[in-house]
Amino acid sequence: MADKRDYYEVLGVSKTASDSELKSAYRKLAKKYHPDMNPGDAEAEKKFKEASEAYAILSDPDKRRQYDQFGHAAFENGGGGAGGFDFSGMDFGDIFGDIFGSFFGGGGASRASNGPMRGANLRAAVHISFEEAAFGCEKQIEIVLKEECANCHGTGAKPGTSKRTCSKCGGKGRVMVTQQSLFGMVQNVTTCPDCHGTGEVIDTPCPDCNGTGYVPRKKKIAVSIPAGIDNGQSVRIREKGEPGRNGGPRGDLLVEVIVSNHPTFHRRDYDIYSEAPISFAQAALGGEVIIETLDGKVSYEVKPGTQTNTQIRLKGKGIPSLRNKAVRGDHYVTLIVQVPTSLSKDAKEALRKYDELTGNTTVGGPKSVKAEKKRKGFADKIKDAIDDL
Ligand SMILES: [Zn+2]
Ligand SMILES: [Zn+2]
Repeated sequence: MADKRDYYEVLGVSKTASDSELKSAYRKLAKKYHPDMNPGDAEAEKKFKEASEAYAILSDPDKRRQYDQFGHAAFENGGGGAGGFDFSGMDFGDIFGDIFGSFFGGGGASRASNGPMRGANLRAAVHISFEEAAFGCEKQIEIVLKEECANCHGTGAKPGTSKRTCSKCGGKGRVMVTQQSLFGMVQNVTTCPDCHGTGEVIDTPCPDCNGTGYVPRKKKIAVSIPAGIDNGQSVRIREKGEPGRNGGPRGDLLVEVIVSNHPTFHRRDYDIYSEAPISFAQAALGGEVIIETLDGKVSYEVKPGTQTNTQIRLKGKGIPSLRNKAVRGDHYVTLIVQVPTSLSKDAKEALRKYDELTGNTTVGGPKSVKAEKKRKGFADKIKDAIDDL
């Protein structure tokens, strides 16, 4: 073991080499030293194995971390035997499929497994209201799900016929490729081309499902949407995705939640923001205002002399937390003081009176030129008056 070369040195890359640098360095070496290119050359074969081992370790983030920390010692107890490297745990199908995809010609080595494989996830979306997102809800969605074919009961074989064990691979789904002998203990295998890894061959496919064993069917699925969910988040429904292969479980169904905008509430995390109008008199004198919240109308006591754009906090009136719906965010309300736009004669009179009492100078009747001018600046005046309070 002592004379074992550093893996980075073997590949001729730096210790900080990226995955693509590793791959390209290995590809170069592998092509150069591949035994097919150097028949009978023991030295080339040794170099090829050395590079393959280095790449196998460094291309695996976990193994690379272990190697960086402990060097070759990291793998010495791994059952590799006398100075040998334990290839048995490596997925060479992946490495060679990746590196040599076209190099070996044809399909070459590729992912080789007839073990149970989980099906792919399906995605769907559901539209809900702001309140439904806040408090949770039950929805039904319709999706197209591949269901077991009733005609062949999922076998894919026409009723009355049956699948037979693949003769090419003897039902294993995998066949050895010739490169195997070059790696000593490496089990370099590839997916069986006849049965595509299933180990079984259907001579007479079921006409309903074309031999797949599944037929697409519209299904209604109940989706339980938890309180506190936000726009763009997804609910995972286990095993309602694509069927698995070789007895593997179905994938999951991921339902993305699309939350409608609320006419007055805006959400940020678990807090709600809104605006509420208050009258000039309420702002000046203080008093009860009614504020719309998620829980309905609540009463709030405004302090005398409240300025416009004052933000108040209604504690615990926000959105329930996804983790614990008993914990809720807050509702922040910005109070907007309303400047009156249509006033009765009496109200106008009272305002003029107020204006006088607060030291301003509105004089004369409504027809005077001066009053006309003043009227134009009415909004500004009210604002000044509020500011003076
Ligand atoms: Zn069928
Ligand atoms: Zn086969």
